[in-house]
Amino acid sequence: MGYILPQTGYNVDMEIIKVSPRGYCKGVVRAIQIAKDTAKAYPETPIYILGMLVHNTYVKAGLEHLGIITLEGKDREALLDQVDEGIVIFTAHGISDHIRQKAIRKGLHVIDATCPDVKRTQDLVNQHLAKGFEIFYIGKAQHPEAMAVVDGNPNVHLITKQSDVKQLGMYDQIFVTNQTTMSIFEVADIFGAIQEKYPHAIIAEEICNATRIRQEAIAALQDVDTLLIVGDASSNNSKRLADIGKQNNIAHVYLVNDVLDVQKLDLTNSQRIAISSGASTPTYLTNQVISYLENPNLKVTTIDIDKII
Ligand code: SF4
Repeated sequence: MGYILPQTGYNVDMEIIKVSPRGYCKGVVRAIQIAKDTAKAYPETPIYILGMLVHNTYVKAGLEHLGIITLEGKDREALLDQVDEGIVIFTAHGISDHIRQKAIRKGLHVIDATCPDVKRTQDLVNQHLAKGFEIFYIGKAQHPEAMAVVDGNPNVHLITKQSDVKQLGMYDQIFVTNQTTMSIFEVADIFGAIQEKYPHAIIAEEICNATRIRQEAIAALQDVDTLLIVGDASSNNSKRLADIGKQNNIAHVYLVNDVLDVQKLDLTNSQRIAISSGASTPTYLTNQVISYLENPNLKVTTIDIDKII
């Protein structure tokens, strides 16, 4: 056991593994750039986002600094009802067609930051609905990406866990797909249960590449006793990384917002610590955590919002 720095609960002999890839994905980078460009192009116009642009409270604060207002709540339509003028931005998680059309009918300037990977899954669902298929969609209840697909459509069935498959009825044509940020392992198990009950179902696995390679990197970790995932508690892809760490039998797995959370942890018994971050976690936050782990004498007391986006 190495030397324990007084009052830090930190073993200075600890080996630090920076998991790669980690952090921002292309869809998040794109969504933030769209929001920044909008703020720059329309400085005098009120700009609203229907929900969090990406699931990270620091990104929300950074956007606020640019004058962009995030309307919070699960019901996108109720949020839209609060907007009577200006610009409305749809988040990276996508939006249902009926809310898009409602925004246009209201005369709002509509800007769409939907990730192209999310859009591709939505398009696949719509193409199969048009051909008369029933849709089995694996996703998280109340998650905006899932809600945009389900959107009250009686032909779209949300599956949140394997046992849901038992409750589903029989249909001639079934198309199965999933929310892009689900666990690759959980989705594979649910696909298996569906294939057993519905051998004729057409299955399209739609985990996005960014989610897949971040999850595979966590699943491949060996001889690690502690895992830190930097990410927001509302971020599905961050939570799934933590889940996969636990499934990989890593003894201590922590989902932390920032370095301030890490400084409160007792890492006394950690010998090999791995660090990764969700696809919606600003690089600045992860780098602060790495800097602290590499030099715990440099305690951080504030997060600089200006460095977030
Ligand atoms: S996690 Fe995947 S689907 Fe979500 S924004 Fe990033 S690339 Fe797009």
